[in-house]
Amino acid sequence: MTTIPNKEIPNKKIPNKSAEQVAYKINEFFETIQGEGSFTGQPSIFIRLQGCPVGCSWCDTKHTWDIELSEQVNAETMIVKTQETPQWANLTASQLLEWVKQEGYQAKHIVITGGEPCMVDLTPLCETFEQQGYSTQIETSGTFEIKATKQCWVTVSPKINMRGGYKILASAMQRANEIKHPIATEQHVDELKALLVQHHIVDTAIYIQPISQKKRATELAIASCIANNWRLSVQVHKYLGIE
Ligand code: SF4
Repeated sequence: MTTIPNKEIPNKKIPNKSAEQVAYKINEFFETIQGEGSFTGQPSIFIRLQGCPVGCSWCDTKHTWDIELSEQVNAETMIVKTQETPQWANLTASQLLEWVKQEGYQAKHIVITGGEPCMVDLTPLCETFEQQGYSTQIETSGTFEIKATKQCWVTVSPKINMRGGYKILASAMQRANEIKHPIATEQHVDELKALLVQHHIVDTAIYIQPISQKKRATELAIASCIANNWRLSVQVHKYLGIE
């Protein structure tokens, strides 16, 4: 089995490539309701990229971590899969747009997620959809340089001290339109506070998300939101039982 080492992929320069030239490793795309952060409730098309070296122990998309060549499939196979699998397909931004239209999706908001989508340049992907009247959003761990259009909404969910050893980048914290932080313990709250001080974050909207739907995590999230004037994000899709 051949694995593309994740650490060779980050920050690879792809100068001035167009929507036809840049291929993205797509794990899945689907239409649903955004359940987190500022866009909660917004019909959205999620585009999930394959590959993430960050190594969060509680990650709920571990099947996106590795890029195995043996798991590469064609677009038709990727689109009809119903299980969470590490299968991925290479698609350019133009091809993705075509598929989105072909599937008849009505949502006009694109959420680019992963995996860690910022291991690659997302500018052509954002541009392609924005030129067609879509708004775009990236969900990232903040550990890779964010390459996207200016108007793209960036959600940084800072993954602090994870197994992969990646640091949160100052550029990612500055670029963030919102910061969304999953918490389970007081330590997670303290880590966020320290990060906000370290990067002089004052005006950015802060969303606190219970790491699970358990009572303890939810109560801690509510208490820390009230104490710090942060906002609560409760992963509405999980309560609704949708993807
Ligand atoms: S950054 Fe996201 S995809 Fe990567 S390990 Fe953490 S939660 Fe999972």
